[in-house]
Amino acid sequence: MGSRDWELPQLVRRYRIPMGAALEIRNLHVNVEDQPILKGVNLIVRQGEVHALMGPNGSGKSTLSNAIMGHPAYEVTAGQIIFGGVDILDMEPDERSRLGLFMAFQYPIAIPGVTVANFLRNALNARRRAANPEDKGIPIPAFRKLMIEKMDMLRMDHEFAGRYLNDGFSGGEKKRAEVLQMAVLEPQIAIMDETDSGLDIDALRVVSEGVNTLYSSNLGVLVITHYQRILNYIKPQFVHIMMDGQIVESGGPDLALHLEEHGYDWLREKQNGNGK
Ligand code: ADP
Ligand code: MG
Repeated sequence: MGSRDWELPQLVRRYRIPMGAALEIRNLHVNVEDQPILKGVNLIVRQGEVHALMGPNGSGKSTLSNAIMGHPAYEVTAGQIIFGGVDILDMEPDERSRLGLFMAFQYPIAIPGVTVANFLRNALNARRRAANPEDKGIPIPAFRKLMIEKMDMLRMDHEFAGRYLNDGFSGGEKKRAEVLQMAVLEPQIAIMDETDSGLDIDALRVVSEGVNTLYSSNLGVLVITHYQRILNYIKPQFVHIMMDGQIVESGGPDLALHLEEHGYDWLREKQNGNGK
């Protein structure tokens, strides 16, 4: 486990986390406003795997994604978050993302005056500088070529790159911007926490088509949702169910189908049967 002892500057210089990098959550306990919310979460997401995290409202799903990305309001009181063999708990959110962890935000902010292309070029350059502090940034023609390649891959209209980020975007367009960002930054692992409401069918389709396209390029994805619906589009190999701050059940795609049919009650009963 020597790699975990890396000092951050060295780590950042060598940020190229090895292929097959995994995100490992080990016995994670998280408090929000001094209240324990996560109570020992264990989960491993490897590159090239699609995992769905489901569970009733308030079970702690978003708390997990916020803790993974290092949101300051979420206090990790025990456990570890390991990415590519490196403990990332002491890293700032932007350091985590430069290492190759991508988080699609539930409520993306609008940045009037900043185009999608400019935003993405800045984000890409930040990631390149993390790898090599001397990096002068991607030359504009090369960036333009990259954008076109990615937009074509995602079957997006090229005009999208010139739009102001999230300014007047529909739900679907916000998701499109996120998926394009994922395509350009090429994270190893992406976490997509879907809002419990407001994800219309168009947005759902954009997200799932994007994930399915990028998945073939060895992206690992954790899709967080309480909707069975999204799983009609994204096909996870692994499904986990969170209740009351713990993952209480893991299985294959059939687990999501079972949930749709039977709800969460059987799990609650099972939990109670376990003496909880
Ligand atoms: P889920 O995403 O599964 O619906 P959350 O992680 O959002 O669940 O919430 C789990 C619990 O943590 C809830 O009781 C919620 O009120 C609380 N919680 C989460 N985030 C915050 C926050 N920023 N401030 C206060 N309470 C929070
Ligand atoms: Mg949530």
